[in-house]
Amino acid sequence: MNQQKELDKIAKEIESCKECKKDSIGVAVPGEGNPNADIVFIGEAPGKQEAKTGRPFIGRSGKLLRSLIEQVGLKDEDVYITSPVKYLPERGTPSKQQIAHGKKYLDRQLDIINPKIIVLLGKVACLAVLNEDVPIAKMHGQILKRDGKQYVVEYHPAAALRFQKIRKVFLEDFKKLVDIVRS
Ligand code: URA
Repeated sequence: MNQQKELDKIAKEIESCKECKKDSIGVAVPGEGNPNADIVFIGEAPGKQEAKTGRPFIGRSGKLLRSLIEQVGLKDEDVYITSPVKYLPERGTPSKQQIAHGKKYLDRQLDIINPKIIVLLGKVACLAVLNEDVPIAKMHGQILKRDGKQYVVEYHPAAALRFQKIRKVFLEDFKKLVDIVRS
C-alpha cells in the first residue's frame, strides 16, 4: 500500500472511532499534507473551525502557522500538519486519556510519513510525543534526538498570536527549520 493510502486508512479509522468521539465535538481532524513530508508539525487538538471542516490548523493559530511555513519558502504541500488529539474536546482542553488515545493514531501516521523532523508545537505536543515536560521558553528551536528521531520543540502558534516577542522568535526558529531540513 502506498503512503497516502495508508494514511487514508488511518483517517477512516479515526472517523469511525467511538473512543475518539467520546466527550468530543464535530468531525474528525486526522491531519493533512504530504504523505512523504520531511517536516511534520504537531499541535494539540482541533479548534472550532477545524471541527467544522475536518482540516487541521485553519483557524487563527493555523493561519499564523501556515503563513510562517510560506514565509520561510515552504508550501503547505511540502509538510504534514496534525495533532495528537483528532477531535475537538468538549472542554476545549484535551484530557490525558484523549491525548493517550489519539497518540496511538499519531504514532502510526508518523511511522508512515517517517519525516526528517517532527516539530512539536507547545506543551501538549511535547508531553504526548516525548512524554516530557519540555521547558519551551528555554528549548524552542533546538533539535532533540530521541529514539533515532529528530524533534524540534516550538511554541504553539496560539502563544505567538498572544505575544509579539514570541512571534519574532517563531519566525527565526522557522528559518532554522528549513536549514535543518536542507542540511
Ligand atoms: N490548534 C491545534 O493544536 N491544532 C489544530 O488543528 C488547531 C488549533
